[in-house]
Amino acid sequence: MKVLVLNCGSSSVKFQLTETSPELAAAGQDRLLARGLIDRIGEIAFVPDHEHAVRRALASLTDPQHGALARLEEIDAVGHRMVHGGESFGEAVLIDDAVLNSIEACTPLAPLHNPHNLTGYHASRRLLPHARHVAVFDTAFHHTLPPKAYTFGLPFQLAARYRLRRFGFHGTSHRYLALRFAEIHGSAPEEFRLVTCHLGNGCSMCAIERGRSVDCSLGFTTMGGLLMGTRSGDVDAGAILQLMSWQGLSPERMQEVLYKESGLYGISGLSNDVRTLLEHSRAGHERARLALEVFCYGIQKYIGAYHAVLGGADAVIFSAGIGENAPEIRAAVCEPLAGLGIRLDPARNAQAIGVEMDISAADATVRVWVIPTNEELLIARDTVHCLSRVAPWHNS
Ligand code: AMP
Repeated sequence: MKVLVLNCGSSSVKFQLTETSPELAAAGQDRLLARGLIDRIGEIAFVPDHEHAVRRALASLTDPQHGALARLEEIDAVGHRMVHGGESFGEAVLIDDAVLNSIEACTPLAPLHNPHNLTGYHASRRLLPHARHVAVFDTAFHHTLPPKAYTFGLPFQLAARYRLRRFGFHGTSHRYLALRFAEIHGSAPEEFRLVTCHLGNGCSMCAIERGRSVDCSLGFTTMGGLLMGTRSGDVDAGAILQLMSWQGLSPERMQEVLYKESGLYGISGLSNDVRTLLEHSRAGHERARLALEVFCYGIQKYIGAYHAVLGGADAVIFSAGIGENAPEIRAAVCEPLAGLGIRLDPARNAQAIGVEMDISAADATVRVWVIPTNEELLIARDTVHCLSRVAPWHNS
């Protein structure tokens, strides 16, 4: 079955076409047919909005010279990355009106993501009416969090009424890392206790106990936990309330500050991009250095905390844009963690850029790995698994 995966962000659409089935996935023989990225949506004339971006993605797939498809009708299913599924979705689902309503109800909890995910869905539904559309949620993997990890210290009735709790995000990425780590070792995910670090523009960490997520640094929204590109991560709620009062900020304006003007960008005043910050930090820019220090310190603390949560971890895994490509950041994070048995091999760390590699020293008792994430592959596999559950007779 040919599955198109769409991952629609605020100004970009990532797409990947994969030939897969439950059997091919089980044998690790899914076939990547095409992938691409359309970015700067809204900034350049030929992609004014998501509909145009999806149209361009589809046009590239059917390009007479380089396209992977002769006709769009060859696409059997579309797997949509949906960031927030709340408490409703523990696994991928076929999208119908009721599912759409539930996703829309979660939109205030992921204002940077869900609206764009939904825009991409509506555009592709119009353009690919024959295909079956499946939603795969970032929150689903974290449905196994125990109450002690997801309960906030707020009045119980209020929290229950408004579903105020930790949901956790980047679940597809964390799950991929756990599955891939097990696959590399020829074992089942149930064999391992892992701390996974998804460090991209959005950042989160996950404690994975024998294949199940037991804690995640992201919480109710995609704002908490680690410092991120432009998002604050955890900040004492008292400081936020005071700031709102002193500056007369509305909740909407405060949300904008916390999501778009904080994090690495907010501290450095320079950039949300770790490459830029590393360059300026080397050149002596004090606030770039401070931003990176705060970033690494947060990751260290979570590694320590999740090591404790798991009763000792077998491995720490770095992934996503920063985790896969920034040896300096990995070194700064791991250096103070020798007491936990975490030690890097400097040469291997320097070599591991965008590739799968064990970067730990020979005497490390906790292994450290770099594993490039592949959310699109897992979304394609989840899509076919979902379809084989809901309509097994209809698979090709
Ligand atoms: P992602 O959201 O996974 O695409 O990650 C994007 C982020 O990864 C960028 O904002 C950069 O901060 C970071 N990044 C990408 N490439 C590098 C690199 N070579 N060195 C350091 N950071 C990088």
